[in-house]
Amino acid sequence: MGINRRRFFSLLLPAAALAACSRSEASEDNSGPVQDEQVGCLADTTLCIGCRQCEEGCNRRNELPRPDTLFRDRLVFREQRRPGPNNFTVVNEFPGPPSRDQPKKQATYVKTQCMHCLDPACVSACIVGALTRARDGAVIYNPDICIGCRYCMIACPFQIPSYEYSDALAPKVRKCEFCADPAGGTGADPACAAACPTEAIVFGKRSELLQLARSRIERHRVRYIDRIYGENEVGGTSWLYLYGRDLSDIGLLSLPSSAPPRTTEAIQHTIFKYGAIPFLVYGTLGGIMWHNHRKQQVAAVEDGGES
Ligand code: SF4
Ligand code: SF4
Ligand code: SF4
Repeated sequence: MGINRRRFFSLLLPAAALAACSRSEASEDNSGPVQDEQVGCLADTTLCIGCRQCEEGCNRRNELPRPDTLFRDRLVFREQRRPGPNNFTVVNEFPGPPSRDQPKKQATYVKTQCMHCLDPACVSACIVGALTRARDGAVIYNPDICIGCRYCMIACPFQIPSYEYSDALAPKVRKCEFCADPAGGTGADPACAAACPTEAIVFGKRSELLQLARSRIERHRVRYIDRIYGENEVGGTSWLYLYGRDLSDIGLLSLPSSAPPRTTEAIQHTIFKYGAIPFLVYGTLGGIMWHNHRKQQVAAVEDGGES
C-alpha cells in the first residue's frame, strides 16, 4: 500500500507541475495586447426593456433546453438570476428608472453573460488549456481537453462559468462563447444582439463600440454616467455597458482595472522559476509519508509487544 502510494505521487506530481508550468506559459499566448480584430458588444441599460428576446435568441442559437416558462413571462424578475448550464445569458430587473431623464420607466434591466475579458482569468487558471481566447476576443471552451478541475469557475471575477453537475457521465463547463463559429471566431452578430428589438445590444469592433459609447454619453449628458463599464475593469472586457445609475444599484460589480492573470502569473512564474513548488510539494508529501511509516513501525512494535 505504502509503495503504491509513493509510486503514484512520484508519477503524478512532476506531471502536474509540468502541466501547470507549461499552461502558465501557454496562457501568455492567449492574452496580452488587444488585436485589431477585437470585437465586442455594447449593452445600453437605458434602452433595455426587459423583453428577454436576447435570452430566447441565445437559447435557440446554442440549442439549450427550453425553459419551463415562456421567455415573455416576466414573473422571472421576482428573483435575481445567474447564467447557468442551460442559460448562457440572463436579464435581471432592478426597480427604479434607468436614468434621470427617464423618470416614467419603472425599472432598469441588465443583461449578464461572459464578458469575454481581454486578459481572461479563466484562460489563465485552466492548467490544460481547455479555455482559450480567439484572435477576435471570444473566450472559447474545448470540452475534449477539460479535466473538470473547475479552476476557471473560481478564477472568474464575474462568476460566470457554470458546471453541468447534473450530467454524471460527461459534465462540461458551460458559458457564453460569443456565438463563436467552429473556426474559433465570432464571425457574425451574436444571436442575443440580433434578437434585441431596441438595439440595446450593438455588436461590432470594440474600438468602434467605445467611440459609439462616448458619443452617446456626449449627446445625452443627463442620461448617462460618464463612464463605460468594461473599458478598464479587470484589464478591459469585450462586453461594454452604458448606464445611468450607480453600479451597485444595477448589479454590476465594482472591480479593479488590473487584470487578475497578471498578478497570479507573476507569482506562478516566480515560484516555478526557482522550483519552489516541486520542492514544497515533495517536502510536504515526504513528511506525510515519513509520519505514516513511523505510525506503522510503532503499531508493529506494539503488536509485537502484545503477542
Ligand atoms: S467573464 Fe469570466 S468566464 Fe468570461 S472571459 Fe472573463 S474570466 Fe473568463
Ligand atoms: S453572445 Fe451568443 S452565447 Fe453569448 S449571450 Fe449572446 S447569444 Fe448567448
Ligand atoms: S432583447 Fe434587448 S431589450 Fe430585450 S431584454 Fe434583451 S437586451 Fe433588453
